[in-house]
This record gives sequence, structure tokens and C-alpha cells, in this order.
Amino acid sequence: MVASVAEILSDEAIRQIRTRIRRWGQKHFQDYPWRRTDDPYAGLIAEILLQRTRAQAVVSVYREFMNRFPSPEHLALAPEQEIGEVLYPLGLSWRVPLMAALGKRLAELGEIPRDYEKLLELPGIGPYTAAAWLSFHGGRRGVLIDSNIVRWICRLVGKTDCDGETRRKKWLRDAVERLTPRRGVKAFNYALLDFTMTVCTPGEPHCETCPLGADLCVTGKTRLQAKGT
Ligand code: SF4
Repeated sequence: MVASVAEILSDEAIRQIRTRIRRWGQKHFQDYPWRRTDDPYAGLIAEILLQRTRAQAVVSVYREFMNRFPSPEHLALAPEQEIGEVLYPLGLSWRVPLMAALGKRLAELGEIPRDYEKLLELPGIGPYTAAAWLSFHGGRRGVLIDSNIVRWICRLVGKTDCDGETRRKKWLRDAVERLTPRRGVKAFNYALLDFTMTVCTPGEPHCETCPLGADLCVTGKTRLQAKGT
């Protein structure tokens, strides 16, 4: 009989997964400049630049952006052409008017709201960016769901029929909600992003070196047994 998601992700399994992901993250932390800032505005800019873009490509653009527009007030006064010049290396010119509108809105507000629903009202901020900013820069809990995390959870519970709609499914959202801790969420979420980017990768996952392996991951168990490891 095939085990259900709830049976696979028992309370004990959830505890083990969190612990191992956290430990892995301590050893493999990816040190990007926006991970060291305590400026909430800089963190929000980074999260927007990271949308649909690899982190390594964002580093130099982030530095230049913060150099030219170090505060919402600077961004609010900047011509769109200048914002476009800075963002040009990343492509995706749709970000330019959103950034300009965001600068104006933040300058009006005077601070970034630490509330998920209010964040969603800001230009350029969607569910993922709001959750990421809250957990990394807002001192609040945020539950991350991106394509890497969806792929990881599908493998974890042995689902092979996941597709672009899976992130909206209740079972998936419930699973991420349960896996995301209430304490230490910043370190856990950073670890999870790095882990799903470098270990449980698209294509061939690296089950042999994965901290979850056969005892906590249905797909890992199958793959490692097939390889006789
Ligand atoms: S064991 Fe393999 S499939 Fe499972 S989480 Fe680790 S890398 Fe991904």
C-alpha cells in the first residue's frame, strides 16, 4: 500500500527534515551581499531582483542599484531611464516601472509594512517575494513556495505527477506550511533555498550526498536502492 503524504511527513519526519536541512545550511551557506544587510529596503530590492533570475547574476546589479538608489527617496526621484540602465544586465524590462512605482510608494509610506497582505499591495511584490522578504528581512515567518521547493517536496513524498499547477494544490501548501519552522525561519529558509538549488537539483538530484537520503525521502530511497548504495 502506498503511504499518504501525512504518513510520510509525520511529526517526527518533519522534525528530522528541519534539523538536517538546518545543519546542512550551516555548512553550505551561500554568502550573497543581500544576506548580510540589515537594511529592509536593500533586502526588498534584492528579492525583486532575484525574481526569475539566478543569484550570481544579481550580485553586481544589486551593488550598483544600492549605490545609485540607496533609499526609497532616491529611487522615487530617479528617472525610469536611469533605473533601466542599472537593471539592463538582467533583462526583464518589466521591472523598471515597477521599481519606479515601488520607490514612490515606499517614500510615501515611510517604512516597509511587516504584514503579508500589505506587502502584496506594493508594486512588484507577489506572494513569493512577500514571504521571502518577511522571513529574511522582516523578522517574521514566511512560507516559501517556488519551483525548486515544489520539486523537492514532490520527490520527498514520491509524487511523480507534479506539474506547474502543483504549487496551488492544498496538499503541497499544507506540506510546506508544516515543514517551515516557527523559530529560526530565516536560517531554515536560506538553507532550503541553497539545498534545493545545489542538492535536490532539477534533472538528476544528488541523493548520494543528500542529508535526507533514504530514510526521509521516498525518491531518495528508491534511487539509492536502485544504485545499491
Ligand atoms: S534524497 Fe535525493 S530526491 Fe530526496 S531530497 Fe535528497 S536529493 Fe532530493
